[in-house]
Amino acid sequence: MKKIFWNEMTMNEIGALDKEKTVIIVPTGAIEGHGPHLRVDCDSFIVTEIARRVALACQNQDITAVVIPTLQFGYSEWMDYPGKISLRSKTFRSVVWDVCKSIVDNGFKKIIILNGHGGNPNFLAITAQEFYQEYKVIIPIIDYLRISIDIIDKVIETSFRHADEGETSVSLALGMDIDMKKATKEVPYMPHEIPKAKDILGAPQKVIIPLTKITERCKSGVIGDATLATKEKGEEIVHAVVERTAGYIKKFLQY
Ligand SMILES: [Zn+2]
Repeated sequence: MKKIFWNEMTMNEIGALDKEKTVIIVPTGAIEGHGPHLRVDCDSFIVTEIARRVALACQNQDITAVVIPTLQFGYSEWMDYPGKISLRSKTFRSVVWDVCKSIVDNGFKKIIILNGHGGNPNFLAITAQEFYQEYKVIIPIIDYLRISIDIIDKVIETSFRHADEGETSVSLALGMDIDMKKATKEVPYMPHEIPKAKDILGAPQKVIIPLTKITERCKSGVIGDATLATKEKGEEIVHAVVERTAGYIKKFLQY
């Protein structure tokens, strides 16, 4: 089995990789409050483990995918629960830019961003667009929620929000140690109705509004119902995310 993580490889091992065909996966997460039962690095944990599984699935299709260290800090400015460590949007975009530029400086042509945090996609999209203008390198952004949205809506009973049924189920499936006795339920007023995940994440969105100070309306940090979470629900979502992302990478290499 080939090594998966960039940081575990030697300089010569990285130097010997096929620069045209190797896919470099850039996981982007966040450090922010995730209720009384989940770790503050929940998004980073999830996206790191998904990236590892995607790279393994790529190996099974004879594709080399290497995962760089997860960008642990994301854009969480509106999420003021204890434990938040956030980058301002301009800092976040600069960090993503510099990381991708370093990968290009190493000679690699195929980069994919795998995102696990809902505050990041707008800024990732701007960065990828401007990066293309500068370097003519296309960086697709795969958001694990969006790529599995139909499965999420089929599997979970509530809408995918934050530290809730969906996110807790995925965390359980990926092996996070969670005390489910601490899982709670809180459904605060939202400025838009979200019956299902596709209604907030589906494209085109009917209404786009900024992320608002949810901490004033939701004390527990669980937006939704975490008590409904199960490992089995999470496994179904993770399976779809890994299979579809690896499938996308195969197509991307032919582009
Ligand atoms: Zn999260």
